[in-house]
Amino acid sequence: MKVIDKIRSESGVMFSFEFFPPKTEDGVDNLFDRIERMVSYSPAFCDITWGAGGTTADLSLEIANRMQNMVCVETMMHLTCTNMPLHSIDHALSTINSNGIHNVLALRGDPPHGQDKFVQVQGGFASALDLVKHIRAKYGDYFGICVAGYPEGHPEVIQENGVVTAEAYQNELVYLKQKVDAGGEVIITQLFYDTDIFLKFVTDCRQIGITCPIIPGIMPINSYKAFLRMTGFCKTKIPPEVMAALEPIKDNDEAVKAYGVQLATEMCRKILATGIRAIHLYTLNMEKSALAILMNLGLVEESKFPRSLPWRRPTNVFRA
Ligand code: FAD
Repeated sequence: MKVIDKIRSESGVMFSFEFFPPKTEDGVDNLFDRIERMVSYSPAFCDITWGAGGTTADLSLEIANRMQNMVCVETMMHLTCTNMPLHSIDHALSTINSNGIHNVLALRGDPPHGQDKFVQVQGGFASALDLVKHIRAKYGDYFGICVAGYPEGHPEVIQENGVVTAEAYQNELVYLKQKVDAGGEVIITQLFYDTDIFLKFVTDCRQIGITCPIIPGIMPINSYKAFLRMTGFCKTKIPPEVMAALEPIKDNDEAVKAYGVQLATEMCRKILATGIRAIHLYTLNMEKSALAILMNLGLVEESKFPRSLPWRRPTNVFRA
């Protein structure tokens, strides 16, 4: 079933889990153990990322197939068009089509390592918009298409001082609307830690006529260093209170994770209170924080929470 149909048909709050292809075979086995456990909590869908330029193509396709047909969870595969000739894009699409996968997150992808700017390959696509148009032209309504949205602006338009001009922000919204008008049915956002920025983005989208569901992408903080690396890469704004809370505990991984769960729980509560009914969790292939957040939100029954997980502690850390 397409993600948009899931959203339309479910009345309660739904959640989804994102995974990335591990580097080793053991890693893939471990990931599937984890996915199977996490799927028992009934996510609306799970998705698997795609290495820009097709660097994980075979593995992403294989994992997507296993998720859809062996784990039996509704699966969405990410597909980027950076450095991807058309025949590689078509191979990916026809493979997931024949594997019964109905959902694609259509992306441009980042420039390859060592390059600042994305360069279109000959015969390839220039943007996610081109990819959305291609998927619709070639497969009609077979695929449910999700597209990426950037509440803080895409990193390419964020200036050195962290500012996005009003004009650039508006251009991004207009372009996002083009992706939706071309066939994108659901927007999944880039990670953020300032909930007000996300909520403003939703309002701004509505104002320019984007009516489709906008799912917030939530990345629990799992380690201080990884958090700084990821927010630096994505140019994500870190609210001062988040930095202040992390500073004294930054060398204590367990405390950082617990804070990450508490923060993400608070963010989700605020978002869900506005009537938004879906949350997308960037799991980074880890289960404990994602499940703890869902448990705090009452979306996962506490009695079903695996007792084997050392992460489950009867403290009020998870009860923000
Ligand atoms: P686009 O939609 O093409 O936009 C890129 C930039 O170009 C934006 O600033 C946009 O406004 C601008 N732009 C493009 N065309 C126009 C136009 N005609 N007019 C005006 N502006 C235009 N990367 C991966 O490599 N693999 C993944 O699996 C992956 N998953 C992701 C999942 C999510 C939810 C998100 C938010 C990002 C993900 N990314 C992934 C990162 C993404 O590939 C990068 O952010 C990439 O730089 C842009 O991809 P896009 O699809 O947003 O590009």
